[in-house]
Amino acid sequence: MPCKVALDGPSGTPAKGGNRRGRQIDGLGIASAFVHMIPATNQDVGTTPMPYQYDDTNIFARILRGEIPNRTVLETDHTLAFHDIRPHAPAHVLVIPKGRYVTFDHFAAEASATELVDFHRTAAQVCALLGVTPGAGGAGYRTIANSGPDSNQEVPHYHLHILGGRNLGPLLA
Ligand code: AMP
Repeated sequence: MPCKVALDGPSGTPAKGGNRRGRQIDGLGIASAFVHMIPATNQDVGTTPMPYQYDDTNIFARILRGEIPNRTVLETDHTLAFHDIRPHAPAHVLVIPKGRYVTFDHFAAEASATELVDFHRTAAQVCALLGVTPGAGGAGYRTIANSGPDSNQEVPHYHLHILGGRNLGPLLA
């Protein structure tokens, strides 16, 4: 069924480039309608590259090199998902890109489209494997990506926590 998509930018200002007003497009057209609005890299939005220094000795880098065992849930060319060693819920899986990314923003800014899609599709597949996907009758889950000191990020390799299997309470304890 056709749906109306507003292509205007925030605060009523027209989005940069492309169409200025909402228009009727079909469901499959939504992604392509927005593609022109998504910057591919930091350079595309005129910001300087982020000064992240990747530490190759971090524990997830060692897991990726096979130096430390892990309980793998799912693995693709670009992504690895494994059980957290100190689970905070009955289901607690970490999803990591195989590339050298430190935080969520680093990954979002510097990863290729292939890596980005693979990462998120793999994370969604993990949810399905855990049986927590609401759209498939599961009771739900929470994703967390700690990034930097205020979040108490422990391992400086980007990772997404997927937690489920019980009611997870308020957002922050
Ligand atoms: P964060 O605080 O977001 O950096 O989370 C790091 C997570 O990595 C914690 O939940 C740890 O329990 C988990 N972790 C650390 N070492 C390992 C390991 N060898 N295998 C699986 N999970 C780990």
